[in-house]
Amino acid sequence: MLVVMKATALPEEIQAVCEHIEQLGLRPHPLPGAERTAIGITGNKGEVDRGNLESLSGVADVIRVTRAYKLASREVKEEDTVVTFPGTDATIGGRNLAIVAGPCSIESRQQAFAIAEQVAASGAQFYRGGAFKPRTSPYAFQGLGLEALHIMAEIREAFGLRIVTEALDNESLELANEYADVIQIGARNMQNFSLLKRAGKLRKPVLLKRGLSATLDEFLMAAEYVMSEGNYQVILCERGVRTFADHTRNTLDLSIVPAVQSLSHLPILVDPSHGTGKRDKVLPLARAAVAVGADGIMVEVHNQPDKALSDGPQSIYPDQFATMMDELEQIGAVVHRSLPRGIRATSEAR
Ligand code: PEP
Ligand code: MN
Repeated sequence: MLVVMKATALPEEIQAVCEHIEQLGLRPHPLPGAERTAIGITGNKGEVDRGNLESLSGVADVIRVTRAYKLASREVKEEDTVVTFPGTDATIGGRNLAIVAGPCSIESRQQAFAIAEQVAASGAQFYRGGAFKPRTSPYAFQGLGLEALHIMAEIREAFGLRIVTEALDNESLELANEYADVIQIGARNMQNFSLLKRAGKLRKPVLLKRGLSATLDEFLMAAEYVMSEGNYQVILCERGVRTFADHTRNTLDLSIVPAVQSLSHLPILVDPSHGTGKRDKVLPLARAAVAVGADGIMVEVHNQPDKALSDGPQSIYPDQFATMMDELEQIGAVVHRSLPRGIRATSEAR
């Protein structure tokens, strides 16, 4: 159920409607829009008694939400969600393309800084780096953990880049919340519902990667888990799914971008690195992702990919990343997107 407030509704009226919803034993989710505020209602087993709500002061309409995902759906929020980063001009969603670049794993301070310097010079606003790695083999490099978070915190200080890092479990979630600007939930955890709910209790943006075999509905329901706990800053990321094709590591499903955009207001990035698994396919698919309307790219960049401790074969060189930025800027212009270069501090305290 969705309560649509009048454009003229006062904050006290919105507050009163939220309190009324709570008294019914349900959860209100006020979602401010450009024109008016809508209040999503969750927690109901059956129909909510709309009569009661319709008569409250400031209420324009009470609408039944037909989709299984509610807070993630365009039925509840028409305008695109734009995730902002206080103290900077960076955004994810909206008119500007967001570029998240960096190594699969943080391997050393020197490696992490060398790559950060190069992606920052090309104008990336976000730096990715794995501290806790979900590896297929227990014997493979598992990440530097807390040490990697310390290194990325230094990188944020040095270059202004906003930090994206994956949380695997409750412990790494707490740590990522403390050190990073965006918490990544990886493909393997897309349906780890208890982790999703915990991430929903935080107030940090969550970058949710599509599961290896997740349908569109399952993907949006996973986002709904995070949002149902009150964290509405969810960024989706298509990273390829398992198919019979063996010329690539995964099959990058670019058609999900417009499919998501028609059903959901959440931003969606595309990861052509995991999506292809092959360096020479990353740039072509990144171009295609922007052309199809993605809100940005997450890409793995390494200065010495042959020596990388994870995902070297799909990591592009810094000079290839520079070329990618130039090309995405041009393709972006065709689809009415700008590619901001570099991140600027705004007057708000960092
Ligand atoms: C990653 O981004 O390094 C990663 C492990 O991604 P995914 O969860 O998409 O496999
Ligand atoms: Mn990787």
